Amino acid sequence: MYCIFTPDNPKNTSIFLTKQRLLVAGILTIHHMPTKPTAPDTIPKYIREGLHKQDTETLHDIITYTESLIEYRTNLDADDIDVEQGEEVVDVEDSSKGAVVIKKIPCGKDCNGCPHGPYKYLVYREGGDIKWDYQGRYYGD
Ligand SMILES: [Zn+2]
Repeated sequence: MYCIFTPDNPKNTSIFLTKQRLLVAGILTIHHMPTKPTAPDTIPKYIREGLHKQDTETLHDIITYTESLIEYRTNLDADDIDVEQGEEVVDVEDSSKGAVVIKKIPCGKDCNGCPHGPYKYLVYREGGDIKWDYQGRYYGD
């Protein structure tokens, strides 16, 4: 049974309706009951357990904070991408994990083939530092 107060009911007396009647009147809608979500294995257990202890408002705050953190780590400015002398940047593209930088680098010797490559790097912020993860020789997409 549901109790509703309506303008048609100025005395504020409660009207009791069955769920069936509310459904017919369009006041209630049937939603598919969501099933309890399963966390991906990539989320460590201590984080999963910690999340379950938070209220919904805090979970929304965690989403906002996490998105900002990802943005901070992966969205680099041109100034963040250092290019050493003799290096040649071929391409820079954004990705969900950071900037993908394709560059040629000198070997440091006096050779005819410098700069060598190109080589592929994933560049992202970690703590206060900019990390360059070598992804291997780049042969084009
Ligand atoms: Zn060389």
